[in-house]
Amino acid sequence: MKSDVKIGLECHAQLLTRSKLFCPCPTDYHNADPNTHVCPICLGLPGALPAVNAMAVRYAIKVALALGCEVQPEIIFYRKNYYYPDLPRGFQITQYDFPIAFNGMVRIESDGGEREIRIRRVHLEEDPGRLIYKGTIDTARHSLVDYNRSGIPLVEIVTEPDLRSPKEARVFLNKLRSILEYLGVFNGDLEGAMRVDANISLAGGERAEVKNISSYKGVERALSFEITRQRNLLRRNLSVKQETRHYDEVRGITISMRTKEFEEDYRYFPEPDLVPIRIAEYVPELKAEIPELPDERRKRFIIQYSITPEHATALTYDKLIADFYEAVASEIDPKLSATWIADVLKGELNYRSITMREAMDRLSPDDFVTILRHLERGVITERGATVVIREILDRGGKPEEIIKRKKLARISSAEMQQAIDAVLNDKENTGAISDYLAGKSEALNFLVGQVMKYTRGRAEPKEVRSMLENALRNASG
Ligand code: ZN
Ligand code: MN
Repeated sequence: MKSDVKIGLECHAQLLTRSKLFCPCPTDYHNADPNTHVCPICLGLPGALPAVNAMAVRYAIKVALALGCEVQPEIIFYRKNYYYPDLPRGFQITQYDFPIAFNGMVRIESDGGEREIRIRRVHLEEDPGRLIYKGTIDTARHSLVDYNRSGIPLVEIVTEPDLRSPKEARVFLNKLRSILEYLGVFNGDLEGAMRVDANISLAGGERAEVKNISSYKGVERALSFEITRQRNLLRRNLSVKQETRHYDEVRGITISMRTKEFEEDYRYFPEPDLVPIRIAEYVPELKAEIPELPDERRKRFIIQYSITPEHATALTYDKLIADFYEAVASEIDPKLSATWIADVLKGELNYRSITMREAMDRLSPDDFVTILRHLERGVITERGATVVIREILDRGGKPEEIIKRKKLARISSAEMQQAIDAVLNDKENTGAISDYLAGKSEALNFLVGQVMKYTRGRAEPKEVRSMLENALRNASG
């Protein structure tokens, strides 16, 4: 598909280290009171000296390797100078000329095909603090600052402007999230764990940078808004200025913040309090630690389990779902497992807006195996299996207990025959029976409904239908 849109992303992902990038403060700030996870270093107090967290460096190298990048032999931290209240030192410690890596690539699915999105660079930097506005950024009378986030290690992944639409940007981000989660260095469920700045340009215009996109859904919305805004300017023969715009998540719009600064404005220079670090020696052992990644796992699923490419994609995006599937498919027919996990279970999770991680507090692979085994053996109907899954997700419990308590066990054929006889012998139904025998075939629906009622939904409607037809054929013959 041809497009006049060019989008490049700068993705900041919080690394799951236990302590911050340059100080020993803990990183589990998400449910903490403001300014409780701080020290002189991450508060930028005079004289406090940073020390690099080796685990953060190792995680960033793993990310670079998983994205197919060329890891550099030596890294150097730089100061990026600018003033903002969330940055107490007046500069951010980041990387510039000597980052972790250059030149990688991520494959995404787009319009039924595959596209390669080039990665320009991967570097490590510290997260600034968090500003909280009462209301929106342009109308708030006060802003509050929380430095708990200050100094959290971020890996920044910069793409070339290879994305052609807001939708592709979303697909790319989801893929990136998936890869980082497979590596075990990132948890996308945490609030603000991934924050994105986007560069967007249309043919014939300058590029604008949109900052502060902090949700996966927000990316598509912010980019769509920005493309429409630029298109309208170009249509009226007005120029698109090179500028930085802020995405307002609440209103779904971008607001001009300042005309774009240039690299030289930041006066980058090497951080004098940190020495260059040689990382080349770590690469072989970290390479060996890279697990099977989503693309490889998807290919393996298609071959090993003979499932459709669509199911394989749906099952491998989230590592926890992929693990869950493999545990179930080792016991139950892999195709049946694929349908019940990719279609039914994922549907129920989406409907409840819960993640697999949350669901697994209640639903184990063993429970799921029990449910599918009962289904395979005809102990419960498909509807019954769905009811059990829903009940476990909503209230917890064990499959057998729920089947008993909710009387979901499918009825025996003897009981079924009994139900059919009872319905056919009920005087109330004589009208419907003679209607059917007189050729009004829709009267059968009513009789099926009566049997379903009699059996309290524990029969498969299809089976009821064919048994009723047989019984009535015999009656009329
Ligand atoms: Zn600290
Ligand atoms: Mn950055």
